[in-house]
Amino acid sequence: MAIETAARAALIDTLTERLGTAAVLTNPGDMESALVELRGLYRGQALAVVRPRDRDEVAFVVRECAKAGVPIVPQGGNTGLVGGGVPYGGVVLSLARLDRIRELDPVNATITVEAGCILKSVQETADEAGYLFPLSLASEGSCRIGGNLATNAGGTAVLRYGNMRELTLGLEVVLADGRVWNGLKGLRKDNTGYDLKDIFIGSEGTLGIITAAVLKLFPKPQARVTAFIGCASPHRALDLFDRLREVAGDQLTAFEYMPDFGLGIVLKHRPGTVRPLSGHHASYALIELSSPQKDADLQRRLEAVLGQALEDGLIEDAVLGASEAQSLALWGLRENLSEVQRLEGGSIKHDVAVPVSRVAEFIEAATKACEAEMPGIRVCAFGHFGDGNIHFNLSQPIGMDKDAFLAQWEHFNRIVHDIVHGMNGSIAAEHGVGLIKRDELVLYKDPVALDLMRAIKHTLDPQNILNPGKVVAMGESNPATFPAPAILP
Ligand code: FAD
Repeated sequence: MAIETAARAALIDTLTERLGTAAVLTNPGDMESALVELRGLYRGQALAVVRPRDRDEVAFVVRECAKAGVPIVPQGGNTGLVGGGVPYGGVVLSLARLDRIRELDPVNATITVEAGCILKSVQETADEAGYLFPLSLASEGSCRIGGNLATNAGGTAVLRYGNMRELTLGLEVVLADGRVWNGLKGLRKDNTGYDLKDIFIGSEGTLGIITAAVLKLFPKPQARVTAFIGCASPHRALDLFDRLREVAGDQLTAFEYMPDFGLGIVLKHRPGTVRPLSGHHASYALIELSSPQKDADLQRRLEAVLGQALEDGLIEDAVLGASEAQSLALWGLRENLSEVQRLEGGSIKHDVAVPVSRVAEFIEAATKACEAEMPGIRVCAFGHFGDGNIHFNLSQPIGMDKDAFLAQWEHFNRIVHDIVHGMNGSIAAEHGVGLIKRDELVLYKDPVALDLMRAIKHTLDPQNILNPGKVVAMGESNPATFPAPAILP
């Protein structure tokens, strides 16, 4: 043990010598924000939080940690929602200072950015150059590109542009032994063997440290129209989605869903928000059409579809955002929904996907099953309906003890995830697996796929030092030296 302690102290000295004292934080107060995940579900421990400035410093840190056998947890904005960034006693590797835009190539329509760039700043740089970088999430002001890549982030525009994997052409990655894989190619065609970048995207820091990426840019929308509709059920929402897709094709940029309970708690907890439709409806959808053509008559097209849908009884009411401010206010209703749920007490969360054709069926079946299991439970099924990705969240019954409710998390996992699995869906659609779903994954993922995942992990990280304990368990064996994160009450 004394040797281990000495080796770890020597590691901190070596890192401090190369990076400087300001880049190697060991004081508990300085490390605090890196030890706890955003929702306060877990607390980890760390020897140090290191803040390298560039790729070579990242490679140095990884090499030295590999030599000392010390685990590394990469962190971007620490906004992940599955405990993926919580440390297991080793070093937290913050990518925040790798925040340079390396190149914007207008003709190739690509931007090359470092992993620590905040998503919003990439969007803004693209916008200033006359382009769109379309990844858009409620955490965009603080999440970072490396985190977006490592979680294969989705968001509200996946329907039209795809998720982070589809937006990425090339990567630069520091491997577990400190070597650098330079895959920073902005190619739209490259069939020179296996697609290595796709292995690292969505790997949640378990296979390599992403230091930079080449991302796709798109023409900026010149016309945009937003609508908020109320209808009687998720099935009616799905009918409308189907019609809109037929009429609008890829001009349909977003189709986000929320239930009456969800809208109600946004209006209750966010002063200044206004009920967009006069009455109550069981289901709501926020719809956006956009086009790079200025003269695309989106409003007329959307009005025509919604008018016909009203006549056919598909929807009960609708409003169009008549101005930019009104559209933003409609989007605000959707964006506030993730946050306000915590103000309603305990919330058991599921981030699942089913084929779009079954999304309404899933919402109804899972709602019925949960309500039957616990009368008074308040279902908040919302999100990226057009991608088949629903945040199926459960708010505690009014007056119930919060801890007693949260103690039922696994029980409700079984109910909801069994339904998802029965529909050939995914129990981790958007936020990833991290720590929170690692053991759950074993119940639902194809066993051969799990074997392949472990084989890839073992090949790329034989010492299991890259974000151990996340995504797939690899026999994290030394809890005395590197303790697992604690689950917080
Ligand atoms: P972190 O939280 O720092 O890290 C996430 C994971 O990636 C961890 O496992 C970490 O170890 C790993 N990692 C981080 N950087 C690197 C790197 N450079 N190399 C290798 N591994 C790395 N997600 C969606 O997909 N869609 C949404 O709509 C969405 N909405 C959200 C809304 C809110 C309000 C919040 C708080 C989160 C939301 N998320 C959403 C979660 C989402 O995954 C994150 O916000 C974001 O993608 C993570 O980026 P980050 O920089 O914060 O990563």
